[in-house]
Amino acid sequence: PSSLRETVVEVPNVSWDDIGGLEDVKKEMLEMVQFPVEYPEIYEKLGMNPSRGVLFYGPPGCGKTLMAKAVANQCQANFISVKGPELISMWLGESEGNVREIFDKARQASPCVLFFDELDSIAHQRGGGGGAGSEAMDRVMNQLLTELDGVEAKKNVFVIGATNRPDIIDPALMRPGRLDQLLYIPLPDREARSAVMKAKLRKANYSESLNLDKIAEVTHGFSGADLAEIVQRASKFAIREMVQIHMGEVRKVREHAAAALEDGVEFDEH
Ligand code: ATP
Repeated sequence: PSSLRETVVEVPNVSWDDIGGLEDVKKEMLEMVQFPVEYPEIYEKLGMNPSRGVLFYGPPGCGKTLMAKAVANQCQANFISVKGPELISMWLGESEGNVREIFDKARQASPCVLFFDELDSIAHQRGGGGGAGSEAMDRVMNQLLTELDGVEAKKNVFVIGATNRPDIIDPALMRPGRLDQLLYIPLPDREARSAVMKAKLRKANYSESLNLDKIAEVTHGFSGADLAEIVQRASKFAIREMVQIHMGEVRKVREHAAAALEDGVEFDEH
């Protein structure tokens, strides 16, 4: 479908510093994508193939997409993002064609990070039965495995899958050489919540008196997306206030000027 053809391909502008917390995951990802490039001889010596993909799992809104983008940015690689349901088509043969097409696109754009969001919607265990829709999913899944195993796919295309339900993902997808690393992206703890807000305010010139730790303390259970929303609302509030102050000042200047003119006061040259 046209939505797939219009997929944007570019190096994302998300840096590691835009991600709050998740230090372990950052470290793991760095090693995974950078070591093979920097130390190919070590891999060769050990007869190891570098990992070609990972599966991120965890609750929604905690940085899976953000992390995938930062990895691409770190490698100066292009980034293609597809949501699982976008691949499913009611037309026979079109669903697996979509998968092929997206991998072709990634290879053409290599080096490229290919991100499959909402993977559970297509990668559930095969052969589950349940009508035409599920057969299409089986075919998508088979095509996905074929592409992951293809020699060509390994050409500088790094695949990241994301799901909230790793328990229903077909284990075949996680065999060695496929998405063989499973990384948990958790809800932020107190320290990470503070870090997420700091990351969001990275470019803002905020007051020293703003106590992010205090906010982190009372936001237990908030996701990164929830915290981003708080910062967003606070920023809007601050903007509104600044605009009001500015308008107030403009008004005052106007009033002074009008009063001065009425009094017939000449503005002096100095
Ligand atoms: P979903 O499972 O819903 O796709 P996700 O885990 O992929 O969610 P993201 O899209 O990465 O979540 O995060 C959504 C938004 O929440 C981000 O654009 C960002 O503003 C904010 N956010 C989430 N986690 C973090 C984080 N660790 N650091 C900074 N911002 C974050």
